[in-house]
Amino acid sequence: MRLEDERRSENVEDERGASFGSGVKFAGGGIGVVIVVVIALLMGVDPSQLLQQMPTGSTVAPSSGPVQSSPEEDKLKDFVSAVLASTEDTWGEMFKAGGRQYVDPKLVLFSGAVQSACGFAQAAVGPFYCPADHKVYIDLSFYRDLRERYHAPGDFAEAYVIAHEVGHHVQNLLGISDQVHAAQQRASESQANALSVRVELQADCFAGVWANRADHARRILDPGDVEEGLKAAAEIGDDRMQMRSRGYVSPDSFTHGSSEQRVRWFKRGLESGNTKSCDTFGVAQL
Ligand SMILES: [Zn+2]
Repeated sequence: MRLEDERRSENVEDERGASFGSGVKFAGGGIGVVIVVVIALLMGVDPSQLLQQMPTGSTVAPSSGPVQSSPEEDKLKDFVSAVLASTEDTWGEMFKAGGRQYVDPKLVLFSGAVQSACGFAQAAVGPFYCPADHKVYIDLSFYRDLRERYHAPGDFAEAYVIAHEVGHHVQNLLGISDQVHAAQQRASESQANALSVRVELQADCFAGVWANRADHARRILDPGDVEEGLKAAAEIGDDRMQMRSRGYVSPDSFTHGSSEQRVRWFKRGLESGNTKSCDTFGVAQL
């Protein structure tokens, strides 16, 4: 991909320094004081002198601190904000053309675990979008999984992941998410899963629409990028994921669509550049 000339989004929130679960807080007294006294006695100092230097009532959260970022992660963060900016520009223009206003989502970088308005999430769930706070959440370590575990390397594969989550944000703004959620409440489990597949395939198609539009406007794709994205779509299809994790496939429990479906819907958006081609709810056969 060619993203050097793209602007960088201001909607990236870096929460990689935050930590949950081990955030033990020391009050001004208690254990903290005991430790100071023990250390002071070991060092042969009068403890009362050291204690006076300790601010009373202060709390210390040892596990939260400044973001520790490797050069590789810095590069990824820059990449993520360029892709996010590109989706903002593309969807902003498309909404405007349709007489609507696009509201930019936020993108939260986290490490390990994160608290969203949709609940507490571990990195293992993968990148996700929370409709309640309009935020996309991604742990940058997912990109290593994409390369190594899912065998889908390449920058366009990485961009597709963000564009898919932004696709869910578009669905949220268009009111599609609410309608589906309401329908799922009344549905059986397999019906609810089938609806979820339609939601996911539409987000894939929307990701394709973004890539088409952004490439027409600013030539962001290199030769081979499209193949990279399609490979990623195939590798994270439910059938391949289930086969990898448990050795067999049960289509009734699909929530994202098969590899073949994901590739096909992503391609539809990619080739048409038009959201009208993404009506996964209007077709009988996906
Ligand atoms: Zn999704």
